Amino acid sequence: MRRPVDLATLAARGVRSPAPEALPNGERSTPSAEPLYQTSVFDFADVESSEGPLRGEGDGYSYARIRHPNGRSLELTVAALEGAQDALATSSGMSALGCALLAGATTGDRVLCQDDAYGGTRSLLDNHLARFGVTVEYVRATDPACVAAALDRPARVLLVETLSNPLLREVDLPALAALCHARGVLLLVDNTFATPILRRPLEQGADLVIHSATKFLGGHHDLTAGVLAGSHTLIGAARSLSIALGVQAAPLDAWLACRGIRTLDLRMKRAEETARALAARLRADVRVRAVHFPGWGPLVSFELDGDAAARRTVRALAAIELTPSLGGTATGVSHPATSSHRDMAPEARRALGIADGLLRLSVGLETESDLWADLDHALGA
Ligand code: PLP
Repeated sequence: MRRPVDLATLAARGVRSPAPEALPNGERSTPSAEPLYQTSVFDFADVESSEGPLRGEGDGYSYARIRHPNGRSLELTVAALEGAQDALATSSGMSALGCALLAGATTGDRVLCQDDAYGGTRSLLDNHLARFGVTVEYVRATDPACVAAALDRPARVLLVETLSNPLLREVDLPALAALCHARGVLLLVDNTFATPILRRPLEQGADLVIHSATKFLGGHHDLTAGVLAGSHTLIGAARSLSIALGVQAAPLDAWLACRGIRTLDLRMKRAEETARALAARLRADVRVRAVHFPGWGPLVSFELDGDAAARRTVRALAAIELTPSLGGTATGVSHPATSSHRDMAPEARRALGIADGLLRLSVGLETESDLWADLDHALGA
């Protein structure tokens, strides 16, 4: 008879319920929702079966920094939605971008970036990538002629956003892809604001798509994650860097992102419909100096008469919160001059059109009438 184990041993090892798939045939079932694999490591019966997964080969799991089931589900889901060969799930949108840029560019390379891109992107390029001998230049990507002129000299990467932040300007992706590909330049597109429900940049010629899954993909403001989607080769290079840096998405965050994506289509369409209606109301309102809305998408930016008016309006909002993020179920407002673009010199920021009185609305799932009632009241404060 086996000797009963000591309590310390029992506590250290715990008791696991049988995994449904391990039950005998007649008792077998599958969990309706994907389980959360909150484990950093996977055990093997013998050395032979551990070797492939430890090298990152095959579909097996060994160590969560290399690969884990929830991260892989997020990767496969986004790859399918974006029409990509493969995807990489990371700890944030910024780490996805970092892996893409570090895998795609090296010392001596020239990287071009849309001039009114997300402030964090500019900060990664200016404060960090530039230190490694990568030349960073900003270009008015909404004008293909400006991009063509910038591509007169050799470049490695062009980075643009499907909808720029916060002015929601649209770039002509097929035109930019043609310019890039004629010169062997990699086209990276941040598709965070559109999501594959509204735009699929790979179909329009992009080489890599980046997402902050923290925003609309996740959709509930309860996770931080990023995803990169593209060819096997490009994703393979980025994955190798992600493993070396240890920036794999955490299991819980990947699990939450997968759950969020289940309702992505409904959320994006509802938010877009409401954003369109709010943009029309704001355009017709004399208290609003300018409205930035390209006719589609879940965001609307609008400009008031200066910083004081913007601050007064934010303070007077009762339901809409000041949120330094976007993409949740609740509508949020942001003041780009003091949040996403605070690191830019005020003159440079204003020259891009990001005025001190600019507010950006990330439209959620409330009714349009409730949102307008809140905005209307605050604009009159
Ligand atoms: N890309 C865009 C367009 C963003 O707005 C953000 C964050 O606000 C990011 C990337 C970075 O994403 P994360 O905060 O998940 O790192």
